[in-house]
Amino acid sequence: MREMLSETYERYRDVQDGRVADYIPALAEADSGWFGLSLTSATGHRFSFGDAQLPFSIQSISKAFVYALVVQELGHVEVRERIGVNNTGLPFNSVMAIELNGGRTMNPLVNAGALATTSLVPGTTWDEKWDFIHAGLSKFAGHELEIDERVYESEMETNTRNRGIARLLESYGHISLDPMQVTELYTRQCSLLVTAEDLATMGATLADGGDCPITGIDVVDPSVSRDVLSVMATNGMYEASGDWLFEVGMPGKSGVSGGIVTIAPGKGSLATFSPPLDAAGNSVRGIRATRHLSNKLGLNLFAST
Ligand code: GLN
Repeated sequence: MREMLSETYERYRDVQDGRVADYIPALAEADSGWFGLSLTSATGHRFSFGDAQLPFSIQSISKAFVYALVVQELGHVEVRERIGVNNTGLPFNSVMAIELNGGRTMNPLVNAGALATTSLVPGTTWDEKWDFIHAGLSKFAGHELEIDERVYESEMETNTRNRGIARLLESYGHISLDPMQVTELYTRQCSLLVTAEDLATMGATLADGGDCPITGIDVVDPSVSRDVLSVMATNGMYEASGDWLFEVGMPGKSGVSGGIVTIAPGKGSLATFSPPLDAAGNSVRGIRATRHLSNKLGLNLFAST
């Protein structure tokens, strides 16, 4: 397996397409050459290659895992009614996606739906809510995750658009907490530091029906994992989710710092890290490497042979 990862690394390491995100100033410092691959099986075996132990902020990938924690608390029906499950066909930070849908969010994996999902996190104070998110994502990863305070501060100084989205949702009555508090919680969850290895473990927890294969801890129920994987399949790569599912054939979730986590249900998870992004905000090397490995390993869920 490690040879297959190293072959994939060599194959795509020289790809020069894409641009490192710079709308969050601290992210612009990333090296465009960073490239890591990691795979964790549902039985807890791990294989890595390249920059798989380099920490980076999780960004949008946190949305899938916070969604899992909220569905675990509130249930399939309530969260589906409040947040939605359909693709917006629009960029991840779209305001039109709210306006065109009568003020409601469309899915939990773009900013509007993620802010609304984070507003549903249990807890009476901001600190309690933060502890819930921090502890929950750490359980998925199998160890306590740290925060990148620089990325957090950098995004807090520049996240006027997310504040606007949260305010707009408030105006429609579709957010259940003070919009500025929600934006702060959401920005903090996006600043949690992970490595490609952590992401592969987090994904393998979903692949294994919610049990972390490294610690054996039951993080969420199998029915919750199933819900998360279906919204990842339809929405995980924003408006490019159709292209992704067509090429890779598995649920995946990307983030602007360059991570992608992909899940083979029942089998395990592959994570990639490479900062240069395409126009939709998905890692260019990550997409190519995952597509290649999906084909090589026969993981496309829609293939009959
Ligand atoms: N924190 C980022 C934002 O809200 C996450 C976006 C992303 O990874 N696509 O803009």
